[in-house]
Amino acid sequence: MSNDWHESTRAVHAGTRRSQYGEVSESIFMTQGFVYNSAEQAEARFESIGEDEFIYARYGNPTVAMFEDRIAALEGTEDAFATASGMAAVNGALMSLLKAGDHVVSARALFGSCLYIAEEILPRFGVEVTFVDGSDLTQWEAAIRPDTRAVFFESLSNPALELVDVAAVAELAHAQGAVVVCDNVFATPVYSKAVEQGVDLVVYSATKHIDGQGRALGGVILGSRELIRKTVEPYMKHTGGSMSPFTAWIMLKGLETMRLRVREQAATALKLARALEGHENLSRVIYPGLPSHPQHDLATRQMGAGGTMLAIEVKGGKEGAYRFLNACQIGIISNNLGDAKTILTPPAFTTHQRLPQDQKDALGITPGLVRISIGLEDADDLLGDFLQALSR
Ligand SMILES: *Cc1c(COP(=O)(O)O)cnc(C)c1O
Repeated sequence: MSNDWHESTRAVHAGTRRSQYGEVSESIFMTQGFVYNSAEQAEARFESIGEDEFIYARYGNPTVAMFEDRIAALEGTEDAFATASGMAAVNGALMSLLKAGDHVVSARALFGSCLYIAEEILPRFGVEVTFVDGSDLTQWEAAIRPDTRAVFFESLSNPALELVDVAAVAELAHAQGAVVVCDNVFATPVYSKAVEQGVDLVVYSATKHIDGQGRALGGVILGSRELIRKTVEPYMKHTGGSMSPFTAWIMLKGLETMRLRVREQAATALKLARALEGHENLSRVIYPGLPSHPQHDLATRQMGAGGTMLAIEVKGGKEGAYRFLNACQIGIISNNLGDAKTILTPPAFTTHQRLPQDQKDALGITPGLVRISIGLEDADDLLGDFLQALSR
């Protein structure tokens, strides 16, 4: 791959490994193991493994390596490790770095399973976790200490769409020698500038925009060759959270169209946010691309766009939200995101159902809140559907 290729070119060519048949579409190497030509070769490969050499699919596989190289080329990192799901990636990034006695500072607004790791699992292994309001830099500054090993946050939070100032938090963390781990799902790889903003390990659930068509679970951890190969890989390959070759193929093909899809979805999201803001049956429209978003300037600086996710607060609380959800004919009620289909989620009663009310309040998860993952439908069709559903 040439270093001056632009993103669109990398998205379809980076990482490609062709077999002797010269196939155009990437091959699925659906194999657990690899044959050695001799006992000596087997011994040599276990001693040190070369660029295009493989031992066992839990350690690596050609199709998975293609996906890793392609996403690393898009993200601008030296290396990547592909995982079985987004949560295998979050868990792998944190557990591979941490040991008993370490301190972690984490944003409070986290995806449910990320919160479970930070709140329940890490403390069980003797890791102390301090939670902060991710959008408040003074809280980060106060919480990060000389013994802080890692900071963790979602750059754009679910479902209230609050931003963490990635560059500023990374600077505070690095001043104390802490590693910056960022779950960048909502920002998407398309709008990510995480590496230039100082993130050391970028984590994605590939289940979302990378697949983008609701087919498979997957994840990836990206970072420097040193961190990925010396810290992340030994943990991942021995604990079993590796990506399957079939999933890697789905994700590779997803990467080819991700940029087109995500930019289209973000353009539609902006159109809808503008059109819905001020609607008489909505008390709020939350979208980082709207000037009314409290962190609009940061969003513009950090992502260059408002992203593909939108949240609306329907008047009338749960009843109002349910009336809207049940009346929508294009948007489907589900809980994934980044899909070609527009997906509507009432977080208070689904993804965040188990949170106690005071935590829901702190995260802005009101009964009338509906999270919308904008798909690839026509923007005017979606708007028409939302307006008829809001008029009920
Ligand atoms: C979906 C999601 C995850 C988990 O990914 P899975 O692929 O479902 O395991 C983690 N973080 C965020 C922000 C997510 O949206």
